[in-house]
Amino acid sequence: MDKYDIIIVGGGPGGLTAGIYAGRQGTKNLIVDKDLAGGMGREVPEMENYPGYENISGLELIEIMKTQAEKNTEIHEFENVESIEKIEELEYNFKVKTSKTCYLTKTVILSTGSSHSHLNAKGEDEFLGRGVSYCATCDGLFFQNRNIIVVGGGNSALQEAIYLNNIGCNVTLIHRREEFRAQKHLQDMIKKEGINIIYNSVVEEIKGDVLVESVVLKDTKTGELNEIEINGIFISIGYKPHNELAKQLDIELDESGHIIVDKEQKTNVEYVYAIGDVCAGLKQWIVACGEGAVAATSAYHDIKN
Ligand code: NAP
Repeated sequence: MDKYDIIIVGGGPGGLTAGIYAGRQGTKNLIVDKDLAGGMGREVPEMENYPGYENISGLELIEIMKTQAEKNTEIHEFENVESIEKIEELEYNFKVKTSKTCYLTKTVILSTGSSHSHLNAKGEDEFLGRGVSYCATCDGLFFQNRNIIVVGGGNSALQEAIYLNNIGCNVTLIHRREEFRAQKHLQDMIKKEGINIIYNSVVEEIKGDVLVESVVLKDTKTGELNEIEINGIFISIGYKPHNELAKQLDIELDESGHIIVDKEQKTNVEYVYAIGDVCAGLKQWIVACGEGAVAATSAYHDIKN
């Protein structure tokens, strides 16, 4: 069984940064990711708030980070971590079982991220990939010159609506209230681009034959139903933390299911740290990266002490 000082579960921006810092400390490290490294970071159409880059896509930045991480740590992609078990085997504290093999490690950094929340509307699952999407960057080009709606009122929804409008989709933004929670500069851009907005509406049903053809909206104030013809629906209503491994380890979670950590990214379980979107707090690349640096440093100090 291969043995490591630090195993990082999840290779998003935080996990890759933890790998870079861990490698430079001289520890033996591994990043394991169930897919390609990068996670949902790959889906970000463009970022204008990552220091050092005035404008860069998530995909581009992930590739740069991954190349840098590979110089500092092993990375295993398409390998799912199925369980993490506490053990007492000389200096190793955990047995990590993956879809391919098992490892022993002294410490674990959980960087397991989150996944898209679903509306749970009728037709949402049925039309997934046939007009229903959770990723504008992945699927937007299929909808050029077509009528689409984007659902949500946060930063992600407004960013995706602007991106889809820019690539030539006919976008209508649907929000359940009449105020957006997105940053003001995104709201200003939505107005500037003249993107159509329907406030106080939720999606009741997504309808179609082979592909999506229409959506039934319900006015949250009057209860009135209104069916509009569309070719696609992009759902962008937030994220759910991936906390399954944390639960296995009896790690403390907050009421929304995020892992609770201290300032050193330590969980309540000794030698386990957590970073990025699986923790509560500001969901930003720069934050996840900072947490990755802190967690790798904490793990290093705990191993040496
Ligand atoms: P979010 O901030 O949680 O916003 C989710 C949006 O979806 C809210 O407007 C919410 O409405 C709406 N919503 C939730 N459930 C719904 C439902 N069942 N039906 C209809 N609407 C529903 O999620 P996010 O925009 O994905 O952002 C996640 C995190 O990433 C945030 O911390 C955000 O700041 C960060 N982020 C930052 C940037 C950036 O800095 N440029 C870009 C993307 C994301 P209500 O407003 O009524 O609750």
